[in-house]
Amino acid sequence: MSPDSLPRSMLITADIAGLRRRVAAARHAGQLIGCVPTMGALHAGHVSLMQQARTECDFVIATLFVNPKQFGPQEDLQKYPRPFEVDCDKCREAGVDLLFHPDIRAMYPAEFATFVAVDGLTANWEGVIRPTHFRGVTTVVAKLLNLTQPDKAYFGQKDFQQQAIIRRMCRDLDMPTEIVTCPTVRDPDGLALSSRNVYLSPTERASGLSLHRALCLARDKVQAGETNLEVIRLVMRAEMEQTPGVFVDYATIADPDSLVELSDPQPRMVALVAARVGPTRLIDNLLIP
Ligand code: AMP
Repeated sequence: MSPDSLPRSMLITADIAGLRRRVAAARHAGQLIGCVPTMGALHAGHVSLMQQARTECDFVIATLFVNPKQFGPQEDLQKYPRPFEVDCDKCREAGVDLLFHPDIRAMYPAEFATFVAVDGLTANWEGVIRPTHFRGVTTVVAKLLNLTQPDKAYFGQKDFQQQAIIRRMCRDLDMPTEIVTCPTVRDPDGLALSSRNVYLSPTERASGLSLHRALCLARDKVQAGETNLEVIRLVMRAEMEQTPGVFVDYATIADPDSLVELSDPQPRMVALVAARVGPTRLIDNLLIP
């Protein structure tokens, strides 16, 4: 067996000082550092981010932290799945070098008082329905990027607004990390993988497929020459609303950079949808064309 084909060993640490020492050593050795922030309950979508980091970087850090500051008061913080051992195995198999899983007090000591908030991009869509969500996300991502000092950080297109906001934050705050957005991984029937899909009953899961159907309809309409985006928005909404148990939060076509809703077609557009299916909220999106 050549050294390259030997399984890598993965360091697991909750210790900030230990993480910083390991990052400094990687830097000192001239290694390109990649970071994949996650909340755990890992699935093939998360793993695809780690695999992409593995192919592009010398030293791959995954972070696993269920960030309380991005959950609203009525949301699922307590019941969010936390299969730690299984997550460790998935990280190891994906070739992660270091798994950082801090505890809450290390990340947010009692006197913690600083937030990072991005204006504008957070005003629409998820920002309306989850008003404190994105400032929790940008705060924890800023902390994790400060701790891991990566050359590249990997995020999923699945959370389209999130990756746009994080990109904006890094630009505005002169953070030296390149933000890499990786394609959405789906089940074969089109449902975007999400840690929250485990909450869905079989019936709800079937209803959840209407989000992907709505997005495909939007893409097909544009490709067939439909130029009235309002018509397309109505078609998307109707596709979801006519599915039993689906309550639409939004269905729109927006500019992929500003996330402003579009009146007229343009070369790059993103269709964004969100709906509640039973007690679970699902979001999805598709770049058009
Ligand atoms: P989370 O653990 O839900 O915070 O997600 C961690 C990262 O995985 C985020 O950058 C997500 O956008 C990304 N992610 C979640 N689901 C998927 C998916 N189905 N495909 C690709 N990336 C995903």
